[in-house]
Amino acid sequence: MTVKLKDKEFVPFISAESIDQRLKILGAQISKDFKNDNPILLGVLNGSFMFLSDLAKYIDIPSEFTFVKLSSYSGENSTGKVKSLIGLDSDLKGRKVIVVEDIVDSGLSMSHLLEILQTKEPLDISIVSLLFKPEALKFPVEIDYVGFEIANKFVVGYGLDYDGLGRNLPSIYQLK
Ligand code: 5GP
Ligand code: MG
Repeated sequence: MTVKLKDKEFVPFISAESIDQRLKILGAQISKDFKNDNPILLGVLNGSFMFLSDLAKYIDIPSEFTFVKLSSYSGENSTGKVKSLIGLDSDLKGRKVIVVEDIVDSGLSMSHLLEILQTKEPLDISIVSLLFKPEALKFPVEIDYVGFEIANKFVVGYGLDYDGLGRNLPSIYQLK
């Protein structure tokens, strides 16, 4: 079934079941790789809210969760304008940090975020992104855990919005 958000139509792309299956695997990998590290998972709002809350249920090691915001996107294309990081209230010094993103597109947001996070002197920083568009990447970032590699097409749902709408969709849709 297609979904209409404002002026655009979207078609089903990644089902809730596929997301759940993939998150189970990612959660198990992260739990294994960070077994004795008490990592801090740092969710990047707003897009990652659903992904992180579901992923967290598959992480079965001692771990902490915190959220930051870095808003830079309006409409369909990356504006290139990145604002500053807000909401960081955890001390990252000497900690293993896992940045949790909804999607890496051009990589601009992520490279900017990494630059800021490095100044907090974490022990190391890993990245988990639900979605990754390899063809769109302009700013090289290494993503340690990728949910799904997708084509360079606009998607919504499962936390991702079009002009503020569609974040509540339980699965992922692609622009028709
Ligand atoms: P980047 O800085 O990597 O170009 O873009 C990162 C941010 O742009 C993401 O965190 C997300 O908020 C937004 N974004 C990039 N591609 C898409 C997309 O296909 N759909 C939606 N809804 N947001 C996107
Ligand atoms: Mg995001």
